[in-house]
Amino acid sequence: MTSSHAMHARSLADPQGFWAEQAARIDWETPFERVLDDSHAPFARWFVGGRTNICHNAIDRHLPTRAQSRALVYVSTETGEERIYTYAQLHDEVVRMAAILQSLGVEKGDRVLIYMPMIPEALFAMLACTRIGAIHSVVFGGFASVSLAARIDDARPRVIVSADAGSRAGKVVPYKPLLDEAIRLASHQPEKVLLVDRQLSDMPRDAGRDEDYAAWRERVAGAEVPCVWLESNEPSYVLYTSGTTGKPKGVQRDTGGYAVALATSIEYIFCGKPGDTMFTASDIGWVVGHSYIVYAPLLAGMSTVMYEGTPVRPDGGILWKLVEQYGVNMLFTAPTAIRVLKKQDPALLRRHDLSSLRLLFLAGEPLDEPTARWIQDGIGKPVVDNYWQTESGWPIIAIQRGVEALPAKLGSPGVPAYGYDLRIVDEVTGEECPPGQKGVVAIDYPLPPGCMSTLWGDDDRFVRTYWTAVPNRRSYSTFDWGVRDEDGYVFILGRTDDVINVAGHRLGTREIEESLSSHNGVAEVAVVGVQDALKGQVAMGFCIARDAARTATPADRVALEGELMKTVDQQLGAVARPARVYFVNVLPKTRSGKLLRRAIQAVAEGRDPGDLTTIEDPTALEQIKAAMAE
Ligand code: ATP
Ligand code: MG
Repeated sequence: MTSSHAMHARSLADPQGFWAEQAARIDWETPFERVLDDSHAPFARWFVGGRTNICHNAIDRHLPTRAQSRALVYVSTETGEERIYTYAQLHDEVVRMAAILQSLGVEKGDRVLIYMPMIPEALFAMLACTRIGAIHSVVFGGFASVSLAARIDDARPRVIVSADAGSRAGKVVPYKPLLDEAIRLASHQPEKVLLVDRQLSDMPRDAGRDEDYAAWRERVAGAEVPCVWLESNEPSYVLYTSGTTGKPKGVQRDTGGYAVALATSIEYIFCGKPGDTMFTASDIGWVVGHSYIVYAPLLAGMSTVMYEGTPVRPDGGILWKLVEQYGVNMLFTAPTAIRVLKKQDPALLRRHDLSSLRLLFLAGEPLDEPTARWIQDGIGKPVVDNYWQTESGWPIIAIQRGVEALPAKLGSPGVPAYGYDLRIVDEVTGEECPPGQKGVVAIDYPLPPGCMSTLWGDDDRFVRTYWTAVPNRRSYSTFDWGVRDEDGYVFILGRTDDVINVAGHRLGTREIEESLSSHNGVAEVAVVGVQDALKGQVAMGFCIARDAARTATPADRVALEGELMKTVDQQLGAVARPARVYFVNVLPKTRSGKLLRRAIQAVAEGRDPGDLTTIEDPTALEQIKAAMAE
């Protein structure tokens, strides 16, 4: 076994050789002529001239050996449904969906917008698009009409695939009225809307435009739809970023590079092999869902578990129950899911047989040490924090346990993954920072296969946004702060726009949050910078106490606030001490579990919080207001 350091070094010294070897993991209809075309920096074209198809590699390629193996396990604790598909059955469903889309006029290069709850038909639609060379754009079902309309106008889909409703925490969430309203608001109009009727909610239909999936599915039985071979750099999909920091960006992904990158990551990072079962508890509307619910497990000949439900219904043991039931080998979710479980009975962690489970992967936001330790000890399995972005499509920083099981350092997602020329750079000079010195996490050109090729329809914005932020070097900015230690481990310190400037001291909100959450009275915390006439900015903390009794009366709150301030004083120094720490029952987060610090900051400064369509619980901002008014 080579070391991850050696593999990383080789991938950068000889990218052509390294990636040519990895490319053998997938089938190519026509071999590529060149591994990398870097003649148009900052654009990078991988596997130039090669022709392949993601759907072929995810399904058809496995049929000779795995037709009767389990490919997809679908389970919904919302509707009580369970459906299991073998590779042969999945092939049949995807071919039917592809035939329907073709009948509705979809051709290679057309966009298909998928606005769907977590049902197998959503996955069929994604794979059907890649099969026929259509470009899918999945829009998370939690988005309401205005956000959806903006994405319709940007992606300009010929067809939209949707459903009557989703269900969340036992409540039916109708989709169709939101979709109709979005289409009314949008200036671009889709020709057809294909609707899956789950019979959860009545759905009005537009006679000329709306089509019924179940009827079409019967009509196209027995159809054959061959895979359309695409040049490696032709787009597979467009996915909008979650919009935590601003206007969402339409991240465009290629075909060959993405397939190779995912197949490689399954072995080196996720330690998966054919026949394994991966359960990614996320949503197909996010990049984690695209890569690790849908494409990577299938590319690798594994089975994937697709779950509609929350981590706490019917009780906080549901994730572990599913692990036991389906023999899950790797579980992937977000730290927020674990923080939710932390508020539940810890005995739930031991109720199920977890012997199949090898590793727990967590990504999407900072994993604080107490949470990492709590879950690692609770389930007795290694936790693998991994850092990446919608833009990258696969982990940028992780302990690559399939290469070498380097010891984890809690608080760090690990070391840069092969292919990423990651640097911590000074934001003003662009020079590399020595170990221990904070800087911007940047990736020197070129980005490895699988990463975004451009922003949909806007090459200029791609260059301007990502490639000009780091001065004096040809480098991609992640817009996150980080620091590297002497051993090469990277610690993520928060987003570049989440830095507080207190009387000339620059403080990352993340560090203050870590410090506050190390106090055992704290379940969750958010820190933001709030304008202050005297100091420029001051830090303010918003905490959820682990035990509500500790914040019951004003005197309790003052006492706990005092303890928390002392904790920060001791760990970081008085300069980092928040001006105030307030207590709330819920924090404003996106539906993907990311803290909406921007919205908290706006409310704390008495400003309008702006677009909140992705917010999980709108009352969270009212609580912030109320806590501050007390
Ligand atoms: P937008 O770019 O539209 O503001 P977003 O950045 O929230 O939205 P994503 O691409 O889903 O959208 O999130 C990527 C970001 O999430 C990273 O840039 C980083 O800030 C954070 N992140 C992801 N994984 C980790 C991790 N393991 N540790 C710390 N932060 C993480
Ligand atoms: Mg981002």
